[in-house]
Amino acid sequence: MAAIDMKNIVKKYGDGFPAVNDVSIDVQDGEFMILVGPSGCGKSTLLRMIVGLEDITTGDMMIGDKRVNDLAPRDRNLAMVFQNYALYPHLTVYENIAFPLRLAGAPESEIDQKVREASKTLELDEHLERKPGNLSGGQRQRVAMGRAIVRDADAFLFDEPLSNLDAKLRGQMRTEISRLQKRLGITTVYVTHDQTEAMTLGDRVAVMKRGVLQQLASPRELYENPGNLFVAGFIGSPPMNFLPAEVDGTSVKLPFGTVTISEEKAKRAQGKGLLIAGIRPEHFEDASVKDSPTAGSTFSARVDVVEWLGNEAYAYIPFEAPPEVQAQLTQLEKDLDGESMRTQLVISLDGASRIAEGDEAEIWVDARKIHLFDPSTGENLT
Ligand code: ATP
Repeated sequence: MAAIDMKNIVKKYGDGFPAVNDVSIDVQDGEFMILVGPSGCGKSTLLRMIVGLEDITTGDMMIGDKRVNDLAPRDRNLAMVFQNYALYPHLTVYENIAFPLRLAGAPESEIDQKVREASKTLELDEHLERKPGNLSGGQRQRVAMGRAIVRDADAFLFDEPLSNLDAKLRGQMRTEISRLQKRLGITTVYVTHDQTEAMTLGDRVAVMKRGVLQQLASPRELYENPGNLFVAGFIGSPPMNFLPAEVDGTSVKLPFGTVTISEEKAKRAQGKGLLIAGIRPEHFEDASVKDSPTAGSTFSARVDVVEWLGNEAYAYIPFEAPPEVQAQLTQLEKDLDGESMRTQLVISLDGASRIAEGDEAEIWVDARKIHLFDPSTGENLT
């Protein structure tokens, strides 16, 4: 195993805008690193540069303590697990796993020992004589990983391995990959455009936009302290609400009412004019079902639509945004690949809430969880 250290990596195709623009990411030995972002952000290009399928324009690609910029893919000792698993349909599970060892001319006894070891780890030992066509999607994924394991690769690289699967299988596979990666402790770089995959799998997540690294942090850190509007809008489902906000002392005037924030937060947002407040749906609640609304504020608002899901419900409250905020939200919508940043507040309510469509409801908001963004730069000021 090995660490992968990307230092100031730039990739230009022709004279165009860099597909990857000065990205530095240090993947620790044994770490599960996710590269995530909307289509065209450069995540696949970056992965392909790690493997050696794409030349690096400038920067250093280090695997362990070796600079690999000029090494051929086969000399990098990395194992790429492809989206379609790239299994040979006419070969058995055993022969599929053995394939890279045969290619390398390994002796039969070594092949047998390694295939049996790997298939045990992957719980495939009872399926060794089957062909890929008779395996479930999950089992096929494990065969693909088995092939990577027998090679004693320094790292696993995944490029959107689950994107062809239906939602249920995707969920199962996610758990499986996570479990295996932890058990094997293999350095892993995993590309996805799916923020749920990113949040559930990654030790750390690198969020990219148009070739530029936006934030590199643990899933919790990204969720709790997004560095800018883009990361805030990308991470979380339903997405964070963005509202126009005027800060005066520790008071923040929102379209529905005024909430109070800490002096510390207020200080960082002072004198910046009109800001964009970010509040996640789950940081609101029906005030009538909240036991003891501490550290928050309540306001009343007319609820437009309620979607009840059993254990929770979503309430929608429309609002107006002034042009400068609207312009930033429209841009954000484009950056997020069409993810809708509608001018309506989405609130997650406890399933016990009795708020109904058309109600003038009392809503509680957790003022500690409010983020304030600079509308011109998108930077999180709080
Ligand atoms: P997706 O999820 O759609 O695959 P991505 O985030 O993986 O997107 P890349 O495939 O890395 O993005 O592409 C990044 C940018 O580089 C895009 O603007 C893309 O059009 C461009 N690009 C990728 N490959 C080439 C190429 N061979 N020649 C020219 N431009 C390319």
